Amino acid sequence: MTTFSLTIPPDEHRRLVRHLVPRCPKSEEAAFLFCRVQQTKIAMEFHFLDAHLVGPSEFNYKSLYGIELTDGCRAAVIKHAHDLNASLLELHSHPRSAVPEFSASDRSGFAEFVPHVWWRLKNKPYAAIVIGSRGFDSLTWASNPEHPDGVLDLQVGGRQLKPTGLTLENWERRHEFSI
Ligand SMILES: [Zn+2]
Repeated sequence: MTTFSLTIPPDEHRRLVRHLVPRCPKSEEAAFLFCRVQQTKIAMEFHFLDAHLVGPSEFNYKSLYGIELTDGCRAAVIKHAHDLNASLLELHSHPRSAVPEFSASDRSGFAEFVPHVWWRLKNKPYAAIVIGSRGFDSLTWASNPEHPDGVLDLQVGGRQLKPTGLTLENWERRHEFSI
């Protein structure tokens, strides 16, 4: 079984967390990472290259319970990933959630966006992280854009951070509900 991980320098990780979950969050926030992917027989590692912290003008709307990015924002991050020959990784926050998992609307977003990115970036792996007040959840699409292959661990300096894994655990069950 392949394991998936993101290696990110501690200062970049701190900057991301500060952006996504500020001390008094007024809404969900979002960011993208651009990563070089290294693969061995048993592991796929995303290595941090660059970050894009989504600014106020790049949202159609944002609230504590949902966000929508502009088409311009999406196009710009895909273009930057393409120019860097990098994999794209999305992050957003659920600031009110201590044990986070992706929402039903996050999942319908993936159904549309992941195949699009997959096509634009020529089948590069894609990953997503949702960060809450105390933890995070994650998904990695490595073999196809329709179904995630696993979660994504974080390697921050010498520390390994594990996701809740709730979304993947509930993936099939939720899918049956939505049919
Ligand atoms: Zn969400």
